[in-house]
Amino acid sequence: MYINGNWITSNSEKKIYNPATEEIVDKVFIGGKSEAEQAVKSAKDAFDKWSKETPEVRASYLWKIAEEIRKEKEQFAQLISKEMGKTIHNARNEVLSTIGYFEWFAEEARRVYGDTISSTDQAKRMFTIKQPVGVVGAITPWNFPLSMIARKFAPALAAGCTIILKPALEAPLSAIKLFKVIEKVRLPKGIANLVLGPAAEIGAVFMESKAVRKITFTGSTDVGKLLMKQSANTVKKISMELGGHAPFIIFEDANIEDAVKGLVQSKFASTGQQCVSPNRVYVHESIMEEFTNELTEIVSSFKVGNGLDEHNDIGAMINEKGIEKVESHVKDALDKGAKLIYGGSRIGSEGCFYKPTILSEVTDEMIIVDEETFGPVIPLIPFSTEDGVLQKANSTNYGLASYFYTNDIGRMYRMSERLEFGMIGVNDSSPFNVKTPFGGVKESGIGKEGGYQGLEEYLETKSVSVKITPNVN
Ligand code: ADP
Repeated sequence: MYINGNWITSNSEKKIYNPATEEIVDKVFIGGKSEAEQAVKSAKDAFDKWSKETPEVRASYLWKIAEEIRKEKEQFAQLISKEMGKTIHNARNEVLSTIGYFEWFAEEARRVYGDTISSTDQAKRMFTIKQPVGVVGAITPWNFPLSMIARKFAPALAAGCTIILKPALEAPLSAIKLFKVIEKVRLPKGIANLVLGPAAEIGAVFMESKAVRKITFTGSTDVGKLLMKQSANTVKKISMELGGHAPFIIFEDANIEDAVKGLVQSKFASTGQQCVSPNRVYVHESIMEEFTNELTEIVSSFKVGNGLDEHNDIGAMINEKGIEKVESHVKDALDKGAKLIYGGSRIGSEGCFYKPTILSEVTDEMIIVDEETFGPVIPLIPFSTEDGVLQKANSTNYGLASYFYTNDIGRMYRMSERLEFGMIGVNDSSPFNVKTPFGGVKESGIGKEGGYQGLEEYLETKSVSVKITPNVN
């Protein structure tokens, strides 16, 4: 743990296992309430000075952090793969996007503007100023153990906030390595703090503290709802990136080859353990056979194994619990009449590996159509009309990412406007970028990360009205 510029140990340790090899990668110290309270205090004490620094000074630290991560790009990527199992290729992309977030928000730090508002009264002048929200409590998941932190840290620090991070205990090693960088660039003490330990206990310290003015969370919808309720007591500002259940729609006029390539790229990234992962693949009935054949050909060529091996296309899943969830969804679908086209079982007894799987004839009664599977399974569902598929795509409480493939420009606009999702990829299975706002609607979340909008989440707008003497004779 890293509190007030010091590394903190404790009497309690947790071993972190590599899900691909079951070997211990490292051990971490576990804290709790007391460490979380110390971290909140140090972030509070550091706020006044940090918030008054110029954007240029704050940005200079972000540039240095980006530079240091770049120097250790490969070490970061290997650590990500070891602690949570994704392929080294996916991990390298994660490190690049992490660097991208620090650089983007270093630039955006200089572009915080207020408004000058015309007055309804000759004797008044009105304007707004933007100021950092205050101390931020950040809670992050294991599936992007580095970049989810960057998406919160970079805008928080750019805005002038101070921060306490509680990463997921499944994969906390990238977070620790990031704090080594924070120490190396000599970010003044107390501005960034790291606490590891029981989630609910540390979460409660954030929630009960009046000093913590903002909670930024990425994780499940259930925990997000709980945090929203808890943060109501002190009316904290919140950003929530929650679960998703992305539809991936392939219309009859689509380029099938592109759609297949896009689907597998998106579906098997991080072994299907992404909130933006395609979970319902709607294929027009007239192209279902051709699409299924092309898809099966590609999927059957994929190599699954240790993410550190450059030759593997799909890595390990996070743990046994993750595999059990996939197994239960696949079993439920098969019991209810789905057809197994490919895969459908785990691989070997060592490590957490599950075969890339294709199911066809999936229907609305199956659990897989409603709940996030968080694994490498593609459920194929036929459709016949644009209106029909749109209605099905929207019939979920989630609203994070969605994708569709078409070459009809009218349909491109119609679908983009009517899909109830925060992010839409049109003939693009990776519509995400540091410059564009990432975030969901409905039960997929509140607020945006990335883009200029990502900085707004860490700023309060103050309105100022000045009474003057309008005319001096
Ligand atoms: P996932 O299913 O991806 O593990 P979770 O929502 O369970 O999603 O976890 C995301 C993050 O939220 C992790 O850092 C986890 O430790 C944390 N978390 C889980 N439960 C709570 C809680 N009650 N209070 C605060 N944080 C929590």
